[in-house]
Amino acid sequence: MNTDELIAADRLHLWHPFTQQQGWVDDEPPLIIESASGCRLTDTDGNSYIDGVSSLWCNVHGHRHPAIDQAVRDQLDRVAHTTMLGLSHPSAIRLAERLAALAPGDLNRVFYSDSGSTAVEIAIKMAFQYHAQNGEPQRKRFVRLREAYHGDTLGSVSVGGMELFHSIYRPLLFETLEAEPGDANDLARVLDEHGGEVAAVIVEPLVQGAAGMLLQPAGYLTEVRRLCDEHGILMIADEVATGFGRTGMMFACEHEAVEPDLMCVAKGLTGGYLPLAATLSSERIYQGFLGAHPEYRTFFHGHTYTGNPLACAAALATLDVFENEQTLDRVKASAALLGELLAAEVEPIASVGEIRRVGLMCGIELQGFEPERRSGHLVTLAARLRGVIVRPLGDVVVLMPPLSISETELRELVSTVAASIEAAAEPDAEQTLVKALAAAS
Ligand SMILES: *Cc1c(COP(=O)(O)O)cnc(C)c1O
Repeated sequence: MNTDELIAADRLHLWHPFTQQQGWVDDEPPLIIESASGCRLTDTDGNSYIDGVSSLWCNVHGHRHPAIDQAVRDQLDRVAHTTMLGLSHPSAIRLAERLAALAPGDLNRVFYSDSGSTAVEIAIKMAFQYHAQNGEPQRKRFVRLREAYHGDTLGSVSVGGMELFHSIYRPLLFETLEAEPGDANDLARVLDEHGGEVAAVIVEPLVQGAAGMLLQPAGYLTEVRRLCDEHGILMIADEVATGFGRTGMMFACEHEAVEPDLMCVAKGLTGGYLPLAATLSSERIYQGFLGAHPEYRTFFHGHTYTGNPLACAAALATLDVFENEQTLDRVKASAALLGELLAAEVEPIASVGEIRRVGLMCGIELQGFEPERRSGHLVTLAARLRGVIVRPLGDVVVLMPPLSISETELRELVSTVAASIEAAAEPDAEQTLVKALAAAS
């Protein structure tokens, strides 16, 4: 199929995530990515683009990294999939051992699943069941932060707080308690009132990603931990976006040496190669599920593809690359450069409001536009014309390049995004961009 045929078939048969299909079908032609290498994506017409959002926040060491490619091939030569229900396999075992060693505190038990959403579902069920069978069945409620995002399945939506995504489903969700983002006093208030009924508090440590990169003040996580301990509540850290070096440390909790009771990881776990997630639990929670068969203290949960061997092999290779390429040291340097470039090239633009960043996780807020204008979307179109892929969160332009991005690529990414923000601010930007995209394709 050539590009036009692919586009036609896409418009006939696909239903894209988080996408108003009417716009997808009527508006500018979709971009179809055929291959990639390092931090660059290539479309079916051979045009190349910088992957400015790590293929939705998950790529770590670049696309087609030789070591990860090889690890997946080697695993394919052994077996693609076997079950974790009643059986085990070497890649899952070795990966669990590595994750336990890397994770904070005594998060020593690794429960696999397939996505960030399922990792969160599992943490919720574990926290609930732990209390139910360890003498505190009244602890049934969960505290979430306003504007939180923990995934799209119903349990993870229940602990989410984004009205735009979540309000329509409210009748299907379980009730939760809400605290203000990054405000320890507000959390203390909620727990003073309801502490005795709460099973767990769930937070995205350091930064609420999907909310538009909302940063928490220094010391907030420490306070969440302290308040949870004070009230006998479990702390769930959703490190799905922040984990695997994104914030400059392996896990965001490490910035404040906080040890959660349950930790969810996904996105970067396989380097952005294959769907795999894990919920890590402390030894205490794990012990709370042990018992003789007739006691029914089993954790009744498991997906068909849980702990998929190909994905585990990709994850193991991803962790090796962190060591072999000193990725965390390099992220610190790239993050500092990103900060400088944003200050020099993006901050001075009139239509740019606040810039929020931690490590290589950044949101640029656009200001002064009507929401109907979809200025974030216009920046995306302008960037695409200039060879950069970004995807906004409303009026926040997200920059989240692979951790392996080179200095040259990072400079190109920031200057292109700056130019795109300026182009999107032109009064007739929409017509100009749509025309230019039609001409380019
Ligand atoms: C992306 C994300 C999720 C959901 O992960 P999926 O793999 O898309 O289900 C959960 N929590 C956070 C913080 C995320 O950024």
